[in-house]
Amino acid sequence: MKLTIVGTGYVGLVTGVGFANLGNDVICLDVDRGKIAMLESGELPIYEPGLSEIFERNVAAGRLKFTTDVMQAIDDGEIIFICVGTPPGTSQAADLTAVEETAAAIGRYIKGYKVIVNKSTVPVGTAEKVRAVIRQHQQNDVPFDVVSNPEFLREGAAVKDFENPDRIILGTDSKRSEEIMTSLYRALARTGRPIMITDIKSAEIIKYASNAMLATRISFMNQLAHLCEATGADIQSVSKGIGLDGRIGSRFLHAGLGYGGSCFPKDVKALIATLKEFGCEADLLEAVDRVNEQQKFLAIEKLEKTLSIQNSTVAIWGLSFKPKTDDIREAPAIKIIEALQEKGANIHAYDPVAIPNAKKFLKEVRYFSNPYEAIRDCDALIVATEWDEFRNLDMRAVKVLLKRPILIDGRNVYDSGEMREQGFTYLGIGR
Ligand code: NAD
Repeated sequence: MKLTIVGTGYVGLVTGVGFANLGNDVICLDVDRGKIAMLESGELPIYEPGLSEIFERNVAAGRLKFTTDVMQAIDDGEIIFICVGTPPGTSQAADLTAVEETAAAIGRYIKGYKVIVNKSTVPVGTAEKVRAVIRQHQQNDVPFDVVSNPEFLREGAAVKDFENPDRIILGTDSKRSEEIMTSLYRALARTGRPIMITDIKSAEIIKYASNAMLATRISFMNQLAHLCEATGADIQSVSKGIGLDGRIGSRFLHAGLGYGGSCFPKDVKALIATLKEFGCEADLLEAVDRVNEQQKFLAIEKLEKTLSIQNSTVAIWGLSFKPKTDDIREAPAIKIIEALQEKGANIHAYDPVAIPNAKKFLKEVRYFSNPYEAIRDCDALIVATEWDEFRNLDMRAVKVLLKRPILIDGRNVYDSGEMREQGFTYLGIGR
């Protein structure tokens, strides 16, 4: 099939590369000329495990192209995937400017029947809005359908998730678009994963509901972590004990410094805004959001119990919002660093891949290409992201290199007993 992907961020690029790898002809459009130039010269603008290999293979096979030419891109695809960003607007609701711009461009250049797919995370009712904007700008009176196909990939495992999704949600209101989308996704459904066909509005809500549910589990555990600390219980044991209940399951029950990234924080806030817009109570999700906002600063509260932050030097391991990604959007580490700097601390930082992105936002941080170098002569170490490589480091060397053996384990990576035995002043979360 001929596909057009609008937006070459984490979602658009992985979707484009993934569909090309299934044999489709894909053209990816972006307004960011720098990104398109990079992609055309064979470079990836993001880090995502496994992406570069299939990117190179499909570019070489001529199935994957990149452009900034809107007219050509819209004309090319039988299916047009909208994968542009939907950041939080001033009122916390999703800012749909890029989605509406894309819809207007589709309206201007559409010359024959096409399926327009909302893959960006958008509030309920957006498909109708997209349809209206396309109609408003249409020069040629041709039919089209709008489909909601929310994306559930996880950064750091995006290629794997594209190839092996838990489910494919298709919100449609026409048989024609349903058949086209089902035939496109048939290749993935062969893995035994269900394609669920539903109405458009339910599909739009499913995406927000999924992220809000996962965020709720995290905030739930983070709130319980405070009770564990106050009583001497261990949140890791509590988490395991709850997770063994088949009705609950063990995933997304880890206490830590809170969730970050480009999705959970903004999607929880946007769902709160939508609930309120429709006159519904949003207090449960408001609490989820509030708990999360406070949780990031727990690392600083803990540090303040052990040293005076003014003029201290603090090492941070992990800058990305989670392991295996270079994405630092809403990363707790970034907020922690800014707050520590405000309190007068000097910062040393190490991350396996996110340093180039962090450099664009943070000032006066000393970056290191090795975790041991980053901690030399520091007063404390905060582990902000649970990269695998932090798990088996030589902690005796870590203790020697630190000026003071203060270890704030914001992701409960280490065994608390062992760390204390080794002489660390160890402070985890909820233990
Ligand atoms: P991103 O910011 O990485 O990428 C968005 C891209 O769209 C950018 O390259 C930008 O230049 C481009 N763009 C903006 N306006 C455009 C326009 N008018 N025409 C063409 N290109 C345009 O965003 P992302 O992380 O890929 O997320 C995209 C959407 O998918 C969002 O709605 C997000 O909530 C959702 N989503 C993201 C993830 C994730 O893990 N990142 C997962 C599921 C869903």
